[in-house]
Amino acid sequence: MNGIAASDGIGIGKARIVNKPIIEVTKQNKVQTDVERQKLTDAVAMTEKQLKNLEDVAKRQIGEDEAKVFEAHQMILQDPEWMSSIEQILKEEKCDAAYATDKATRAFIQIFEGIDDAYIKERVADLRDVSHRLLSNMLGIDLVDYSLIQEDTILVGRDFEPSDTVGFTNPFIKGFITEIGSASSHSAIIAKTMGLPAVIGVPEATKKIEEGIQLIIDGGTGEVFESPSTDMMQKLTTKLEQQKEEAEALKKLITAESMTIDGIAVEISGNIANPKDAVHVMENGGDGVGLFRSEFLFMDRETAPTENEQFEAYKRAAEILKGKPLIVRTLDAGGDKHVPYLNIASEMNPFLGYRAIRICLDRDDLFQTQLRAILRASHYGFVKIMFPMIATYDELRSAKEAVQKAKETLKKLNQPYDEAIQVGIMVEVPSAAAIADILATEADFMSIGTNDLTQYVMAADRMNELLGNLNNTFHPAVLRMIYQTIKACKNAGKMVGMCGEAAGDKLLIPLLLGMGLEEFSMSPTKILKSREIIRRLDTRALGTLVDTVMALKTADEIKAYLETFSRRL
Ligand code: PEP
Ligand code: MG
Repeated sequence: MNGIAASDGIGIGKARIVNKPIIEVTKQNKVQTDVERQKLTDAVAMTEKQLKNLEDVAKRQIGEDEAKVFEAHQMILQDPEWMSSIEQILKEEKCDAAYATDKATRAFIQIFEGIDDAYIKERVADLRDVSHRLLSNMLGIDLVDYSLIQEDTILVGRDFEPSDTVGFTNPFIKGFITEIGSASSHSAIIAKTMGLPAVIGVPEATKKIEEGIQLIIDGGTGEVFESPSTDMMQKLTTKLEQQKEEAEALKKLITAESMTIDGIAVEISGNIANPKDAVHVMENGGDGVGLFRSEFLFMDRETAPTENEQFEAYKRAAEILKGKPLIVRTLDAGGDKHVPYLNIASEMNPFLGYRAIRICLDRDDLFQTQLRAILRASHYGFVKIMFPMIATYDELRSAKEAVQKAKETLKKLNQPYDEAIQVGIMVEVPSAAAIADILATEADFMSIGTNDLTQYVMAADRMNELLGNLNNTFHPAVLRMIYQTIKACKNAGKMVGMCGEAAGDKLLIPLLLGMGLEEFSMSPTKILKSREIIRRLDTRALGTLVDTVMALKTADEIKAYLETFSRRL
């Protein structure tokens, strides 16, 4: 079977088919309260047993600290207020146990989320987890406990949510396969950040792959092998060993400079989704963070994070980076990034719809809260602000006015921030690339978002696995947009970087460097390999490469040419 090569590496393990249940609770009135009360008691008992088991396994396999989470979950389950509130709804509304549990939990979560306290916020996440487990048990839904998996496993699912991936840190999980998505969909991006092999967009994988069968996936080529022959197994195991050796050898570049043979220094930075990822960036010797996808702080919860919560997250990332640059992108909700409480109406074409800066410019409350949080964090490190999806000059002006307003509020409150904070934009909408020279008069820097830019230039949805040929940054149309943006920044003396997936593509790096790109921001696991490539390049020889490539007619020709170039390096 074949899919899209989404996250490099070989993964070997048994197939585990994950059909993630969506729990939808609808109120049932024709019920007997006694029976429902018994259902609740049984589900609580079962949940308690599972949590105890999880605690034991975590203690044995991961560590005492990790096991504490499950101990805390057991305490939540025994919380008398929560339980009596469920019982009360059961009695008063004469409804079913699942509905009563769901209603009582939502009420608790709403109260907790209104309290501005980091500790309580964390408990909300725990409460959500426990209630999900309790409801699943009540409704007879089988849950996969990623942390309980104890043999080498390849997960196979329709798609995985960012919240699933927490459990993927279990060392027995050797990779995953999804049915939908593309190399730039968010499950692929997360896999790359974690260094987990992944093949995306394998049609009907959950139906075609048999549970428990031996699987090998090659996240570098997109190949999936079922019950591989001894020969194939040998070949891929050797490749896996080679990859490990190469990764080991690259470690010597952790403290090396990102500099070409002719002494041109660039920045090779990491993309992150939460402050913890900044640790991976540092471990991989990154020169900073070129993209903090702040929307991940807004996902999987019932209300928006408060100013203080956001401030703590940005500050923590800035401190981990110890003075290296941290570019925080303001909320990029919409498209495939769902933030339910923003109440965005469902749209025919969400990627062409109400997204990112379009929402923030409409929602002053939300935008000001985030801008104040980022500005306050700028006092603790080298923080920059970046706006996603800028399409017009007016949007940039309005967004900058919002920054000014947030600064004035903080000034009145005597809160410290970096007055000279740089404010930049992502170039990911074709209109922005077309007027890059105009935008460069207002932006302090630009970062090219090739994931979106490619889908918009080529009119090929990044989530659609059938459009891989069109959704491809190697197309001359996309490369022209990139080149034009870089030239506009250079002419205006503004810093130009890239934080789309193309920035870490080993074939594209020489071309982008030749075009004049100054900052490359990518999944942390790609930093060292990219640095090694940069250190083998001489920019004086890259002008010819750029001219030759830009004269080619098709994506395939360009890719083939860059492959030859890369082999000769
Ligand atoms: C991009 O579009 O290239 C980008 C980096 O943003 P995201 O992938 O989060 O949309
Ligand atoms: Mg984008």
